[in-house]
Amino acid sequence: MKRTFAVIGYGGQGAWHTRQILSSDVAALSGVYDIDPAKNAAAEKNGIRAYASVDGLLADGGVESVVIAVPNDAHKELVIKSLEAGKNVICEKPVEMTVAAFDDMTAAAGRAGKLFTVHQNRRWDVDYLAMKKIVESGEIGGLINIESRIHGSRGIPSDWRCAKKQGGGMMLDWGVHLIDQVLQIIKEKIVRIYCTETHITNTEVDDGFKLTLYFESGKTAYVEVGTYNFIAMPRFYLQCEKGSAIIEDWRKNAQVARMKAWNEKEVLPVQTAAGITKTMAPRDEITLDIYEAERPVSDVHDFYRNFCAALDNKAELTVRHSEVRRVMQVMEAAFASSDKEQALEVRI
Ligand code: NAD
Repeated sequence: MKRTFAVIGYGGQGAWHTRQILSSDVAALSGVYDIDPAKNAAAEKNGIRAYASVDGLLADGGVESVVIAVPNDAHKELVIKSLEAGKNVICEKPVEMTVAAFDDMTAAAGRAGKLFTVHQNRRWDVDYLAMKKIVESGEIGGLINIESRIHGSRGIPSDWRCAKKQGGGMMLDWGVHLIDQVLQIIKEKIVRIYCTETHITNTEVDDGFKLTLYFESGKTAYVEVGTYNFIAMPRFYLQCEKGSAIIEDWRKNAQVARMKAWNEKEVLPVQTAAGITKTMAPRDEITLDIYEAERPVSDVHDFYRNFCAALDNKAELTVRHSEVRRVMQVMEAAFASSDKEQALEVRI
């Protein structure tokens, strides 16, 4: 039998959740509530029941679980209120702005004995899954460095994302996804963090950032979000002990160059603008295998399938509290590094 969900917040992402639930094989939608009457009217126009109040929604015994899809500063209050009303909760990312706030939310879930998770849906992105598969398969050896970038050219959307007190800025908006992905690929302690924010179109919140994570074994990850990049750099670049891989764009497959032999018989120098170089000359293709990685298969409906299986005690939640907390810790340290304009020694 399908499990019943209600959605709080019927903006861009709340509407996305209603579409997911309405097309789900495991979930059913009982209705939505938005603080803005115009959004409730829009839901009803779309054939979706709109509750008159959040209390009315939470009092509905037919609602087993609630999805919170409101601006970031309203997550904590609604998550705790829903848990205390006996509902299971899926909260949108970023779960909150601080580790302390997240701890209050998990404590409330513990007291209520209800399921609580965060919608880190970009774990189902095929570009990220392709990189993860290449690293985990070991086909190009151990990871040295991974670079994960997302570049746009329109600044920050001109809504609550521009306001600091509402949890605006690109670290909390996109950084939370990219950091979560990287920490799924490199499962080691982070020992050092260095971050610089950009403020090209907005002084109040970051409109982008450049973040380097240094891991215990010497592996590194570079995460960058930009909103003022009129030519986008590749989505992913992976440097491993026996090769490299690149994803130019999230719509494209990974290109892999696997080293067959380190030594080349003869290196032909190439002409550059002001001289010749052998060091930077392209590799002799005999020493490389160059191929396109298979596109991973992914179904974002698996997020709700996992949540419903966890409700049935048939699965562990895919997005765990310890993982969400770790991402929050990284973002807190990244903001601190940027404020202090220095690298921070950490153990995260
Ligand atoms: P939005 O501005 O489009 O919608 C937010 C809605 O929440 C608005 O309709 C607003 O009226 C309503 N709202 C505000 N306070 C409320 C309250 N107290 N009770 C009920 N409704 C309230 O914003 P959005 O883009 O939908 O973002 C909402 C959340 O979803 C944010 O946390 C954001 O980070 C997240 N999000 C996640 C993804 C993803 O891919 N996981 C994508 C976009 C947004």
